[in-house]
This record gives sequence, structure tokens and C-alpha cells, in this order.
Amino acid sequence: MLRNAPLLELGRFAFDAKRARFGNNVTYIVNRHVNPTNLCVYSCRFCDFAARRGDSHAYSLAEDDILASLADPGVQEVHLVGGLWPEWGLDRSLQLVRRILDARPDLWIKAFTAVEVAYFARAARRTTRDILAFMIDAGVNQMPGGGAEVLSERLHQLLFKQKIGPEEWLRIHEEAHDLGLSSNCTLLFGHLETDEEIVEHLFRLRASQDRTGGFQSFIPLSYQPGETKLVPRLASAPRCLRVVALARLVLDNIPHIKAYWPTLQIETAAAALTFGADDLDGTLGAERIMHAAGSATPAQLSTALMQEIILQAGQTPVQRTGCFAQPGRVRQSVPSIKSIKSIASSRPPLACPT
Ligand code: SF4
Repeated sequence: MLRNAPLLELGRFAFDAKRARFGNNVTYIVNRHVNPTNLCVYSCRFCDFAARRGDSHAYSLAEDDILASLADPGVQEVHLVGGLWPEWGLDRSLQLVRRILDARPDLWIKAFTAVEVAYFARAARRTTRDILAFMIDAGVNQMPGGGAEVLSERLHQLLFKQKIGPEEWLRIHEEAHDLGLSSNCTLLFGHLETDEEIVEHLFRLRASQDRTGGFQSFIPLSYQPGETKLVPRLASAPRCLRVVALARLVLDNIPHIKAYWPTLQIETAAAALTFGADDLDGTLGAERIMHAAGSATPAQLSTALMQEIILQAGQTPVQRTGCFAQPGRVRQSVPSIKSIKSIASSRPPLACPT
């Protein structure tokens, strides 16, 4: 299907699968991306975001400025990920989560990739399970899906060998699910991966989801060539649509497939809504990671434009919270999670704050 299926036929199958589950609804969220620093001790070969101390584009945000960026009461979710940097270690990062929740107890906190969890654990000489428990205790609602890239040891060695590899990424996510913390998963495609590696990646995620039920969304991320130029140009729109459609069909146990517009680009993201995607992600506020690599989209979209994109795709826009509830309503985020082990927390795991 990834290579040879007639594109529109593949899209129709995926669209039918999406409609069987969600009808014509396509969701979006008013959210903010917060990347406290781009300073990073690693140098992944596909990354244009990371900086070294002294680089002209290096930055580290002040907590007060981060809080100010979340003051808009319409914001439902914060997506908090950053570079791996000693000055943004575990204590400071969790303190930031607590300060955000003191100021905005209604916010859904999606924070810290498995890569960050592993980095925190190594620096603090704790287990990754300990770090996940600390995150839940601080009020984190969900882990983002970044850092998986492609679940391939070949590409791990070739492109990001300083970071955790496929086994460790899956282990940390399954550990989070075991603790009752849901997460997302991603695929970075359009660089040096093979078709076989994409298919393997999807089936490894599917098998993991069969074990835990803890993945909420899958987000295909199209590689931005930027300065790293692993390949000369962006994946074509048909290639992106094939990956989205295939994900919808293979990952029939993961509820949501996102059309993440900063990487797919807005026109392809709109088309993806009729190729199996059911969510346009968020307004973002200030997307930095893809834009550091040259994404040609705006850094944020208005809610009016999000709605317009969904309407132009012939779908019905529905605003959502971080756990896919409608704003103002309360429900569990991932009711199918199989093994929830409660840990002491002032905010119960998986509860949607709005
Ligand atoms: S991808 Fe993440 S870990 Fe790798 S260099 Fe970039 S910021 Fe650092």
C-alpha cells in the first residue's frame, strides 16, 4: 500500500475508517508550544533546533515569560518539550510544571518526551519509572510522542545514536502507560528511511498499543530539510498522504491520527483530513522546532483559520481539550488503558482537568 496502491483508493479506505469512528468531525485545540531552551548536549543529524552555548540563536526562556505566554484563558493545553541541558534538569522542569498549574490549574500538561525522561533519569541517577512518577505527581497529564523518529536500529546508529534507541523509547512509553500516564507517538519520515522501516515502525507501535492501550494519538512528522539536508527537499504531498492513510489503516488500535500542519504544510494537512486524519492539532502559539528547520507555515494559526481549513476539507470543526473532550466537559482521556497503577498524586492520573 505504501508503494503501489492507487493513491485515491488508499485515501478512500482510510477516510472510511476515520468516518466510521468520528463521522465528519475533525478536532482542533487552542494550545501553546513551550520549548524552554534550544540548548542541547546532543547533536542529532536531522535537528536544526538544537544550539550550543555561544551560538547566536541559542536561547533559554525565563519562567515568568513562559507563564505570561499561557495567560490567555482560551488556551487549553501546553506542550512542553526542550533541548537536553543541565540547567533545565529535572527539578527546574518539574518546578515549571507546578508553577504553570498554580497559575492555570485548568491546563492540560503534555510534557517531556521519552528522550527527556531518559536524560533526567541519567542525570538524577534515578530510574525512568521514578522520573515518570515524579512527573505525574507534579501534574503532567500526558507525554508527547517525540523522540521515536523511526523505530529502526539502523537509523538510530546513523542519525541519532546519542539518544535512546527504539527499544528504550518503547520501554519508557509502556512504563508510562503502566503508571496510568497516556502518551502520543510519532514517525519522522521523508529522510533516509526505507519503506520497510516505515512499515516496521507502524507495526511496532501497533504491537505496543496492543500491550498497553496507552497511546492516544499518532503524529506523522515530515522531515524539514533546513540546514541538515539529509535529502534535498520535503516529502511530496502524495507521499505524506500515503503515510497518513497507511497509519490510519495499520494503527486501528490508536484512536487519533493527527494532521500536524507545521510539518505536512497547511495544504497537505488539509488534504490529510480526507486521508484518515481526524485532528488538526493546535493553534500552537509559537512553533519553534519545525520552523528552525525552515517550515514555511506560519508559527501559529488562529482558531478561525483552523476552522476554515477543516471546513474546506468538507469536515466539521470541533474544538477539543487535551484529552479530546469538549471544553467545559470532564471525561477520562484513555479509558482503554489496561493497567493503571495509581500513585500518590494531588491530580489523579488521566483525569481531564476541564
Ligand atoms: S533532536 Fe532533540 S536531542 Fe537531538 S539534538 Fe535536537 S533537541 Fe537535542
